[in-house]
Amino acid sequence: LRANFSVIQKETGFVNGLITVLHDITEQEKIDLERREFVANVSHELRTPLTTMRSYLEALSDGAWKDEEIAPNFLSVTQTETERMIRLVNDLLQLSKMDSKDYRLKKEWLNFVDFFNRIIDRFEIIKDENTVFERKLLEQGAFVEGDQDKLTQVLDNIISNAMKYSPQGGKITFKMEEREDHIIVSVSDQGMGIPSENLQQIFERFYRVDKARTRKLGGTGLGLAIAKEMVEAHGGEIWAESVEGRGTTVSFTLPYDRNEEDDWT
Ligand code: ADP
Repeated sequence: LRANFSVIQKETGFVNGLITVLHDITEQEKIDLERREFVANVSHELRTPLTTMRSYLEALSDGAWKDEEIAPNFLSVTQTETERMIRLVNDLLQLSKMDSKDYRLKKEWLNFVDFFNRIIDRFEIIKDENTVFERKLLEQGAFVEGDQDKLTQVLDNIISNAMKYSPQGGKITFKMEEREDHIIVSVSDQGMGIPSENLQQIFERFYRVDKARTRKLGGTGLGLAIAKEMVEAHGGEIWAESVEGRGTTVSFTLPYDRNEEDDWT
């Protein structure tokens, strides 16, 4: 908060008034700072893969293309980097769409149990043999009003993190609980965990606990920021609990009306 003071003084010298103008500049300044940081982050995120690709392409055109062993390796690096940039740009477009004023969810009634099962099935196919899945979903269907594409992305981002940050594998537990006016959906892993002081920050754009490592894993640093915006657009909340070295649980809620449920059956 910034305050401007003007003293109203009469010719006699007596002060008989004080005008105080309070500007709430903190909010505006915060937005400006965040925007500058965001642009700096995006530039940095794009420059890193681009400079890597430039040096590999330079080496290739300097003659490495003739080397049958080196050339495929260098080409595969440029391919990986290109794919990561595409993911990043797609994530950025997604965020900018959500920032726009006319952003709307395409809500429909979903049987969340079936919906969640279908998403887990998809990951079951690609998981490695060291990873075990456990499903603790509700017995009966719970109908939730939501945007199927957006909720798919939320779960995709959370589940792919659970797998990505569990390099040794372990059990991934999918859970769904019913409360009076919401459901709680959670994904728990037995991976590397997150230090408690960083638990809040992982939902910020571009925040990563270990920058070098997560970049190597191909992450954009935007997955959870996108998940948070999408969950909040549905009127829910998202949070994480974790014990370093033991594992992480990421949970979110979605509004749910149990009474409405009765009308359906
Ligand atoms: P990224 O693309 O880097 O995975 P996210 O926004 O999805 O970005 O996640 C932000 C950061 O939170 C990750 O870089 C990682 O450090 C941490 N993180 C997210 N999920 C997990 C998890 N299940 N276990 C450990 N760390 C996690």
